[in-house]
Amino acid sequence: MEIMKGKCLCETVEYEIKGSLGPVYNCHCSKCRRWHGAAFRTRASINKNQFNWISGSENLSTYKSSENVTKFFCKTCGSPLISTYENKPDILGIPLGGIEGVTELGPDAHIFVGSKATWHTITDTIPQFDAWPGDEEAVRKTS
Ligand SMILES: [Zn+2]
Ligand SMILES: [Zn+2]
Repeated sequence: MEIMKGKCLCETVEYEIKGSLGPVYNCHCSKCRRWHGAAFRTRASINKNQFNWISGSENLSTYKSSENVTKFFCKTCGSPLISTYENKPDILGIPLGGIEGVTELGPDAHIFVGSKATWHTITDTIPQFDAWPGDEEAVRKTS
């Protein structure tokens, strides 16, 4: 089975992912923009049982960014690591930027494009959505 590893900027927190990533979305919502300090967040959904912290889990901090979403980040360097969802406890969201050795092609779509930064122009031809395409879609590839 494929295993990918990732880590935070200061390398205190390391994790591994077993198996393949779910669909990869570029999220253009304003919260992702602020959290990543970037035009958009490139992220995948995975099943919780695919994910393990390897080291540094005691160095995590959390922030509840909306009613059902908790963001985990390294409290030393601030790197965004995973998101958990109270209404979807079996799923994690993970940004691709910290993962090494991602071989899958992507992304599959742009989401929340209605909130896109005015200073960023989408120039590719992958599908665009104004919202979340759906939870079943989000785990389609991982089953
Ligand atoms: Zn760190
Ligand atoms: Zn977002």
